[in-house]
Amino acid sequence: MADTSRDDEPGLRARLVEQLPGVPGSRLPSVGVHTGELKLSTRGDADMVDITDGVQRIVGSAGADGGMATVFVRGSTAAITTMEHEPGNVADLQEVLDRVIPTRGEYEHNRLNHDTNSHAHQRASIIGPSEAIPVAGGRLALGTWQQIVLIDFDDRPRDRTVTVQVIS
Ligand code: ZN
Repeated sequence: MADTSRDDEPGLRARLVEQLPGVPGSRLPSVGVHTGELKLSTRGDADMVDITDGVQRIVGSAGADGGMATVFVRGSTAAITTMEHEPGNVADLQEVLDRVIPTRGEYEHNRLNHDTNSHAHQRASIIGPSEAIPVAGGRLALGTWQQIVLIDFDDRPRDRTVTVQVIS
């Protein structure tokens, strides 16, 4: 087994704190996959919904002590990120996005498709549809002031499905 202590490597401060049990020549530990879904309705227009409790419920039902939870929203006008979900941050992030990617503009997607939501597509692509969060001790390894948030950028209310996949 490789030596995992890297303190002798200058500049490398990362260090394994836990390691999968394994003996050379033995079979790898089996991997479990548990998939759950959250269904929710949003108001659209950069509605930011804290989904941490729902994700944690699925992680809990997976019965995994350690592993990785991927949180993914289907669709091209919504995104998943983490933030301190409180009214100030919600207003500030909405304002930043309005400045960087305004709702109105000369958008090709709108022109070519007679659509109105190109800003929603662009915001969703830049923030991204998923986050991968470590699971430790059966819980999401989030900071105290860090929530998992679904942002719906579409310009109308939507029903959304968030897939949570736990690999342990
Ligand atoms: Zn569109």
